[in-house]
Amino acid sequence: VVELGMPTRSVVTTCAYCGVGCSFKAELRGDELVRMVPYKGGDANEGHSCVKGRFAFGYATHPDRQMNPMIRESIEDEWQVVDWETAISYTARKLLEVQAKYGSGSIGGITSSRTTNEEVYVVQKMVRAAFGNNNVDTCARVCHSPTGYGLNQTFGTSAGTQDFKSVAKADVIVVIGANPTDGHPVFASRMKKRLREGAKLVVIDPRRIDLVRSPHVEAQYHLQLQPGTNVAIVNALAHVVVTEDLVAKDFVAERCEGYEEWAEFIARPENSPEATESITGVPAADLRAAARLYATGGNSAIYYGLGVTEHSQGSTMVMGMANLAMATGNIGRDGVGVNPLRGQNNVQGSCDMGSFPHELPGYRHVSDDAVRETFEAVWGRTILPEPGLRIPNMFDAAIDGSFRALFVQGEDIAQSDPNTKHVFAALESLDLLVVQDLFINETAKMAHVFLPGTSFLEKDGTFTNAERRINRVRPVMAPKTGKHEWEVACEIAQAMGYPMSYNHPREIMDEIAALTPTFAGVSFDRLDKLGSIQWPCNEKAPEGTPIMHVDAFVRGKGHFVPTTFVPTDERSTRKYPLILTTGRILSQYNVGAQTRRTANVAWHPEDLLEIHPHDAEVRGINDGDEVSLSSRVGETALRAVLSDRMPVGVVYTTFHHPVTGANVVTTENSDWATNCPEYKVTAVQVGLRTPV
Ligand code: SF4
Repeated sequence: VVELGMPTRSVVTTCAYCGVGCSFKAELRGDELVRMVPYKGGDANEGHSCVKGRFAFGYATHPDRQMNPMIRESIEDEWQVVDWETAISYTARKLLEVQAKYGSGSIGGITSSRTTNEEVYVVQKMVRAAFGNNNVDTCARVCHSPTGYGLNQTFGTSAGTQDFKSVAKADVIVVIGANPTDGHPVFASRMKKRLREGAKLVVIDPRRIDLVRSPHVEAQYHLQLQPGTNVAIVNALAHVVVTEDLVAKDFVAERCEGYEEWAEFIARPENSPEATESITGVPAADLRAAARLYATGGNSAIYYGLGVTEHSQGSTMVMGMANLAMATGNIGRDGVGVNPLRGQNNVQGSCDMGSFPHELPGYRHVSDDAVRETFEAVWGRTILPEPGLRIPNMFDAAIDGSFRALFVQGEDIAQSDPNTKHVFAALESLDLLVVQDLFINETAKMAHVFLPGTSFLEKDGTFTNAERRINRVRPVMAPKTGKHEWEVACEIAQAMGYPMSYNHPREIMDEIAALTPTFAGVSFDRLDKLGSIQWPCNEKAPEGTPIMHVDAFVRGKGHFVPTTFVPTDERSTRKYPLILTTGRILSQYNVGAQTRRTANVAWHPEDLLEIHPHDAEVRGINDGDEVSLSSRVGETALRAVLSDRMPVGVVYTTFHHPVTGANVVTTENSDWATNCPEYKVTAVQVGLRTPV
């Protein structure tokens, strides 16, 4: 068998990329990974996969990968390769020195949605128990933090309502600010199957995504709104539901509260389709027709992405969608719901694990005395009742001088966070930057300590996908760095004087389950037995919960919240007359740290700027020309591609390559409730670049 090049063994594990969370059989010949085969028994993917999960795993053995810890006093110095013991004691000593000089709150940590639940849990525990503060945040801050806020306010928990299978029962599918074909391909296939069977489709997006018109699928309505006007759109849809008497009265009366006040607000003339047409650019007749379809078309389900959350009103829009679902009774059964399509494989999990400055694991506020006492009893340390710093607060405090040391786990904040100049200024101000990653990424280039991380092939633990499904991540090979990431956090905590140790990640999950009611029934044994589990999993639901809010909302009654539309401050001006919005492409993944180091890069070797032919013509730009892209905070250069997918006045790009760096131009604007950056609306100018 070996002579024929066939695999000799396989390990079932979970994809390292998007929030669909596909299961794969990693097939090996000896210690060499031969191929990734989509696993038929995978509950999220049932044997399907996309080009990322199937082919883009070569980054794990790419020569760029750093296998040794390194330290340096200053970023001007050369890196010094050291052993783990030296790196950990150096990191702990420096962190303690900074705290001694500048106070307990002068240090903090950022967790990653590319790491396992167990790895995230130990980092937030390290910050809370060893650092002694709540300065821990997750990269979900810059993507789905408004989902957490909005769904918690309205439904009582920060998670999608359905399982993926549920889409097969939907009669009307509304896709808002998401591009599942590129971002969540395997779920997109499920959705398209249902659409081919006859379900109706409404797409709300400034860009004509493939789903609007693809083979055998055509949207009934494409509401091609101006970027930044989501809330006006959802209010207009709800206005039609209320004023045309399409409300699910029994559902609202029995299951919800706050309806009267909300209905009075939403029925006001300023929320009508006619009043919002000039704001959104969407014809009132289309808004009315789409609202009628959603309210009366049978089971109606909303699926949404970062085109909802990454706005100054991201949280408002999430609540607006929840209001619409409650008003029409589209919640609590198969085929309906409000469903975030999470970007990274473990965004849901990193939020569940309490890596927010205001919440302990299971979304419980740090100000809750009883909750804190539960953790304190097990952890043996006092937890502060005041929330810590969010990522953007950390950057501001670094520039002010009050925040001096940062531990970053698997997150390239220098490339992925908005307003690159500001992020660089913050990182340059730190006395100590510790980066744990696979590669010397843009952030690590500014670090004082580099701790090599492990790829998903070396991890042992769990990821939680967009449908709250906890999947096992099983090790295909031993850590190439000689140490698991969870061990590193434990050892740093230990070296700082806080005893923290586990023999195996299953013990970490056992602690999570003991402290977190929604995870009470989760264990590695049960996961191995059931294949996967959707939380909540506890005594009431020992095999998990595919659909939430069935008989009652998690908060008791569903809560209608009036959602006033407030235009973003980011407007087009004479100097910056176009609006830039951003997105992803199928073959690449986020900042590209992984996919750029695989053969997938050949399909998308650079970020391109999509510009409408009219906007190109008035600027003398031809297809393929190099152009400058500038905003009030920065300027970059990339090649233009003429496309009428965007309306006149709107341009679009991806953010997979550091060379073009779309975030050089995105601004500090953010969601009012969560500080999620407003990546989706930036006033820009585009000009033909003069060759130097
Ligand atoms: Fe991986 Fe997502 Fe592709 Fe599935 S759809 S293989 S989880 S990237």
